Amino acid sequence: MSIFSHPDFDNHEAVHTFCDPASGLRAFIAVHNTNRGPASGGTRFWQYANDEAALTDVLRLSRAMSFKNAMAQLDIGGGKAVILRPEGDFDREALFTAYGRFVETISGTYITAEDVGVSPADMATIKTQTNHVAGLSEGDNASGDPSPVTADGVFRGIKIAAERVFGSKDLSGRRISVQGLGHVGYALAEHLANAGAVLSVADINLDTLAKAKAELGAIIVPVGEIHTVDADIFSPCALGGAIRHETLSRLSAKIVAGAANNQLLTSDMAVALKQRGILYAPDYVINAGGIINVAAELSGHYNPAWVTAKLDQLEETLATVFDRAANEDRTTQDVADEMARQRMAAIRKWR
Ligand code: NAD
Repeated sequence: MSIFSHPDFDNHEAVHTFCDPASGLRAFIAVHNTNRGPASGGTRFWQYANDEAALTDVLRLSRAMSFKNAMAQLDIGGGKAVILRPEGDFDREALFTAYGRFVETISGTYITAEDVGVSPADMATIKTQTNHVAGLSEGDNASGDPSPVTADGVFRGIKIAAERVFGSKDLSGRRISVQGLGHVGYALAEHLANAGAVLSVADINLDTLAKAKAELGAIIVPVGEIHTVDADIFSPCALGGAIRHETLSRLSAKIVAGAANNQLLTSDMAVALKQRGILYAPDYVINAGGIINVAAELSGHYNPAWVTAKLDQLEETLATVFDRAANEDRTTQDVADEMARQRMAAIRKWR
């Protein structure tokens, strides 16, 4: 299939394909839109079923980054990368070195950061080859792991949603199910537990589950059943596609609000959620904390107060999306998409 007829192609400015047989690297970098600035978004390292699945992921994720960065009113555009995890043994350092070399070849039209499967050590390896990288752990202006800031933003967003649906931001006693306890999901679960929520959690990592049970008093649920838990709020914090026909039909929660990118498997899920009376916090609005933190590093002077002000703004934006959707009888996704496209079109200052 050609890129231009791919169902997830959305006038992406560029889609780069990289291959380095020596290290086993096979990667895509998609630059969706650079109206607001150089395309920025993380690199995902994942074992995909096939090339097609990886391409679909990078097209969808990079588009979501444009929308996310525009909604957060950041001076960066949208892009994303995926590296197909090789089967069997491979030299991780050689692979990320080759990847860093490729990021350098596209001359800063794309600035990378961490995403699922990429560690701070991998980021340091990439940095040996290119300066077009952010979210580093070390260095003068390093912003570090973006995940805690993402979790903070999602926690704030969940409280806004709870106020709309339950009349109060107070989460004590609220039953919240969290799908995925990784960098963001676990930090979010900590916030929620501290706020007195009753947590049900699922992950494929048994050690993490044991920790969540011991530290947070979380109830452990099998991976395939987390969406069936009797809960007030469902928080997808694993990979994309958590909301699909099969899961939605068994969801009892009144709110869907989490960190995962591309939570709706298909766009019709936004309407289906609304019809079921479930308030959906559009993923790219509520999960922008991490890229906000990265943008602070990219500005050249990391300022925590600026990050906090941006998280306050994230809350206001989410509240506006909820208000407009309610007043105009539209889906929250529809309202957010419209606002994001306007914010993307309004600025064409970077070239
Ligand atoms: P992570 O890799 O640290 O965590 C993902 C977790 O999900 C892991 O613990 C993994 O074991 C678990 N998981 C995988 N498949 C699962 C399944 N079927 N059911 C339950 N758990 C499963 O990644 P992360 O950085 O925490 O990111 C989580 C999600 O949030 C991703 O979709 C990511 O794109 C998105 N996101 C992350 C950030 C960030 O700052 N890290 C920012 C915005 C969006």
